[in-house]
Amino acid sequence: MSEFFSSRLSSLTPYTPGEQPRGRKYIKLNTNESPFPPSEAVIEAIADEAKSLNLYSDPSLTELRAALAATYGVAPENVIASNGSDEALNFITMAYADKGFAFPDITYGFYPVFCTLNRVNYREIPLKDDFSVDVEAFMSAPENVMIANPNAPTGIALPLSDVERIVSADPGRIVVIDEAYVDFGGESAVKLIGKYRNLIVVGTFSKSRSLAGGRLGFALAAPELIADLDAIRFSTNPYNVNRLTLRAGAAALKDAEYYKNNALTIIANREYTAERLREMGFEALPSKANFLFIRSDKIEGAELYARLRDRGVLVRHFTKPRISYYNRVTIGSRAEMDAFLSETEEILNEIR
Ligand SMILES: *Cc1c(COP(=O)(O)O)cnc(C)c1O
Repeated sequence: MSEFFSSRLSSLTPYTPGEQPRGRKYIKLNTNESPFPPSEAVIEAIADEAKSLNLYSDPSLTELRAALAATYGVAPENVIASNGSDEALNFITMAYADKGFAFPDITYGFYPVFCTLNRVNYREIPLKDDFSVDVEAFMSAPENVMIANPNAPTGIALPLSDVERIVSADPGRIVVIDEAYVDFGGESAVKLIGKYRNLIVVGTFSKSRSLAGGRLGFALAAPELIADLDAIRFSTNPYNVNRLTLRAGAAALKDAEYYKNNALTIIANREYTAERLREMGFEALPSKANFLFIRSDKIEGAELYARLRDRGVLVRHFTKPRISYYNRVTIGSRAEMDAFLSETEEILNEIR
């Protein structure tokens, strides 16, 4: 950092995104993207909208809000859209700073980054030994709560009844449920929005809707909370979602069938991969997401990661002590998973 950098940000450790390699072609199983392209209608909508890029996007997000409301059975006043769900999470930490936030020790690495950036206190509550969320500890936490469900990088999902216990335990604090992976088998908390005015459900188009590069996320909540987030949005970037992405998002929602089938394929590939890995002696945590969190007594996480990388397969390794023995493997096409499995098998044979 230069000597000009704000001293109040001296403790900031920026989020480290997964590698997006240029040059060598990898089998890319490291950032939980979809192996499927956007639907034809989405590509056409983007091409058509490109003609209007001389104009700013709609700051009210009217059409996409209406489309999201229809998809999730809420009113447009319950919806805000964002530049990736990361932006919604950033807005949320800005908006609800007073009580600070509690989240699991093992979860999405952006939560502590947003808190530090916005100078919001946070506390990490350890996952239990089986990597499940400690529901009782979150019920009694005095802070606002942020939970990814299914969680990342574990893939473990919390039943809706447990989410409701946490939300209802204290109506005086905000509970954020980050449902980035919900379409791969989790239970959504969207149906609780009408019942609890302290609940925010965050979603993304980056995973099940094949739009990671388009940057589109959203939050669903009571109208007063959406008004809070809109106040932050209009104070940061009223044109936060660009024209191409607004059109792409609305078109993707209309193609629900296509994306639903893709999610079912990913789920089938996940179960197939988990079974093959268990046959090879790996432990795979029970995942409801588009990735598996795996470990083997035969090889350390960092070494498997490096050896797979040498062979052209990228997975994600985290150095945090509690999970350094593991790797997170995104579920891709069947061909990609077969390639990953055979390389992994060869690596195990090599080190034996
Ligand atoms: C991928 C992911 C996001 C979303 O990122 P975008 O900004 O929408 O691409 C949010 N939360 C979790 C837990 C994720 O894994």
